[in-house]
Amino acid sequence: MILVINSGSSSIKFELFESETLDVIAAGVVERIGEGQARLHYRHRAGDGFDEQSDDDMDIPDHDAGLREIVRRLSTYTGASGEKLRGIGHRVVHGGERYKAAVLIDDEVIETIRALIPLAPLHNPANLRGMEVARQCFGHVPQAALFDTSFHHTLPEHAYRYALPAQCYEQHQVRRYGFHGISHHYVAKQAAALLDMPLQRLNLITLHLGNGASAAAIKQGRCIDTSMGMTPLEGLMMGSRCGDLDPAVPLYLAKAMNKSDDEIDQLLNEQSGLLGVCGVNDMREVQRRIGKGDADAQRALEMYCYRIRKYIGAYYAVLGRLDALVFTAGIGEHDAEVRWRSCAGLEALGIAVDPRRNDAGSGALTEIQRADAAVKVLVVPTDEEREIARQTLTLINESA
Ligand code: ADP
Repeated sequence: MILVINSGSSSIKFELFESETLDVIAAGVVERIGEGQARLHYRHRAGDGFDEQSDDDMDIPDHDAGLREIVRRLSTYTGASGEKLRGIGHRVVHGGERYKAAVLIDDEVIETIRALIPLAPLHNPANLRGMEVARQCFGHVPQAALFDTSFHHTLPEHAYRYALPAQCYEQHQVRRYGFHGISHHYVAKQAAALLDMPLQRLNLITLHLGNGASAAAIKQGRCIDTSMGMTPLEGLMMGSRCGDLDPAVPLYLAKAMNKSDDEIDQLLNEQSGLLGVCGVNDMREVQRRIGKGDADAQRALEMYCYRIRKYIGAYYAVLGRLDALVFTAGIGEHDAEVRWRSCAGLEALGIAVDPRRNDAGSGALTEIQRADAAVKVLVVPTDEEREIARQTLTLINESA
């Protein structure tokens, strides 16, 4: 069995896979860690093959307690000390310039991820706790780290450098790193399989539209640009992050609103995006409000899709030729209107969505372009946990 742990800032997601088939045995999430009452959602295969689900409110003060509860829940499958585990895969947000691919975890890897904390102060510490507790519980089980940044290591320098004094990059590592790489890579491979073409021959724009959102330009299988930058704040408009912004705005607001650096950081990361414009960060709720005639929600949706359209145009230009546009993650997979609006008016680029295929296409791996369109438009469900499990297994097999 392979256990995948995605230890985030206030939640821990986990998924247990069969090693041979990568079938899911059990999965879940601990949410609201350290916020008073935490909740553990857990589902697993019951004896007859159907899913059994439970939700438990419990006192989980920190990540250590959360992980130990997960280990306890899974022990019926893994054995109390993980005897049945072949490996554990951890999602790590920031791999800096060091990690261009997944690695097996040892002390040096842990220290390197620790050294990258200044670049990802919210995420890397939580990721590290996941690794440390898993090593304490299952010391003998090989563990791998997969980085959200790795897939973007192929960005050329002209794409990853910011137009700042050179010392900002040379001494302070300020550059574009990009995130959501595990998802962009996974959906690119799925798209290649669907189109029955080698990924190395495809030019793609992948749009990961979840709570966070990012776009990637993939040329002949290699990522050449992506919308998130040094941190996940840049680029598309998101659930609660502002995305692209005149860099003078935070400085101006700090003075005008008399806010501290931390308050500005919070404003840009947690109070902006859909939430800032219309008061809710969940796209389903945005759509419900639009249905009731809410003008703020309508504006938020238009801004959201307009920004996506701009990135499609920009990445079309840097790719030169586009084979397929790929929508993924919660909004990309399920919201037909966002897909429709994001592609509206792009017929001159060969991008045109078929309304019926689009409406029918939510949630499945499918093509939704018009029959006469030059560019394929695909809906590709992402599965970062499965990709982490697969790469973890590959690493373990290679090292054996
Ligand atoms: P995360 O980045 O947390 O993994 P997800 O990929 O689950 O996020 O995406 C969450 C977003 O997807 C939310 O804005 C949610 O409203 C949206 N979403 C999920 N299902 C639907 C749906 N059926 N229609 C529209 N939006 C949806």
